[in-house]
Amino acid sequence: MAFRENTMSRFWSKVVNDLTPYIPGEQPKLANLIKLNTNENPYPPSPGVLAAIQAELGDDAARLRLYPDPNADLLKAAIANNHAITPQQVFLGNGSDEVLAHVFMALLKHEQPILFPDITYSFYPVYCGLYNVDSRTVPLADDFTINPADYCGQPNGGIIFPNPNAPTGRLLGLAAVERILKANPDSVVVVDEAYVDFGGDSAIPLINRYDNLLVVHTLSKSRSLAGLRVGFAAGHPALIEALERVKNSFNSYPLDRLAIAGAVAAMEDTEHFERTRQAVIASRDMLTAALAQLGFDVLPSAANFIFARHSQHDAAQLAQALRMKNIIVRHFKLPRIDQFLRITVGTDTECQALSDALRQIIIT
Ligand SMILES: *Cc1c(COP(=O)(O)O)cnc(C)c1O
Repeated sequence: MAFRENTMSRFWSKVVNDLTPYIPGEQPKLANLIKLNTNENPYPPSPGVLAAIQAELGDDAARLRLYPDPNADLLKAAIANNHAITPQQVFLGNGSDEVLAHVFMALLKHEQPILFPDITYSFYPVYCGLYNVDSRTVPLADDFTINPADYCGQPNGGIIFPNPNAPTGRLLGLAAVERILKANPDSVVVVDEAYVDFGGDSAIPLINRYDNLLVVHTLSKSRSLAGLRVGFAAGHPALIEALERVKNSFNSYPLDRLAIAGAVAAMEDTEHFERTRQAVIASRDMLTAALAQLGFDVLPSAANFIFARHSQHDAAQLAQALRMKNIIVRHFKLPRIDQFLRITVGTDTECQALSDALRQIIIT
């Protein structure tokens, strides 16, 4: 039987009836697309990742018969080593989206509403719906920055924001993050650093000084492993233990054998990591200049995407026109940002194709 969208069923639970699921960026099945819509890395992961996965498989893949390490100790050690923290300060999940889901359940569900920006990662309100977490949104300033004062002196059940923020790309300095931590000693402050490797300083070193800080990272963006699904959180062991309790009540093996092996190799290849992230940063700065030349207003980005609007051209129409030229970017039909395009930084060739296409669209 075919189901139409919005079809409901008498078999659905109340929770499911009330859900508004997250809508991920499109993953089209077409070849020859320039795909700049979901912030994937344009470069392949470290060659060590493939070697490690092949080694894990072995000649006959017989090891797949066995469950993986439920604690993925090797990966915790590699991450701890990379960030100069201890494995007891690391929690792992099947992508950082899963880590975030457990964070909402374990650390953000309290009597008071949690706070997050009005313009931010659109998964946060979805988790609030799933876990029945009360929330209040805090408007970004007119220049789309987070004002730390807005998160100080308001009673709350927790605070979460991406840094750099998504989809604006704007960075909040570590001094401002610390100000928020100090003003909220009785709330967990979650800093979602999915993009921090492209232009910010991580707050991870601060976890040794603030027991209310949880920093969430993903290997999907700066380690080029969106397809492997690995994310982690760093924080005080008591926060990590809360997450482990939820995880062990949900799925003992969120990371499979291949993901563990590949992620360890990715964390160990510092040279590849540095080279590819510097390439993305250089391309972002070139793309920003090229779009400014075409009359775009581009927000300063510390991420692997830019957020840009044109005073003379409607964003939805630009996105549509780009699509006709086989280039996909992201457009959010949301208040305050519906005249912006979010464009992932691709290779230099892809960025050039994008600015050529925009030039043609804007001039004709
Ligand atoms: C991409 C992204 C994530 C999710 O990353 P996965 O590890 O692929 O689940 C989380 N937070 C933000 C802000 C992101 O942009």
